[in-house]
Amino acid sequence: MKNGSDSAEGEAMSSQAKWNNAHPLEMLAHQYVRSALKKGLLNKEPCEVCGAENVDAHHDDYSRPGVVRWLCRLHHRHHHMQEKAV
Ligand SMILES: [Zn+2]
Ligand SMILES: [Zn+2]
Repeated sequence: MKNGSDSAEGEAMSSQAKWNNAHPLEMLAHQYVRSALKKGLLNKEPCEVCGAENVDAHHDDYSRPGVVRWLCRLHHRHHHMQEKAV
């Protein structure tokens, strides 16, 4: 019989892992973009609003991971704020 060996694995989940669990479609879309960039299927483009080169892939529809828009941090945030406001 073992004492005091309760596994803490459940609690060790990173915030990234929690996010992945809560947003499975988004996670798949992000994974798709990462591998598509590596394979040359997708090319990063400057922010469509301001032309900044440090961009994130934004998905209007997470069920279509290949359809992305390129937005810098700032305009990516703006875009999501607008979505919520509508
Ligand atoms: Zn921008
Ligand atoms: Zn987005």
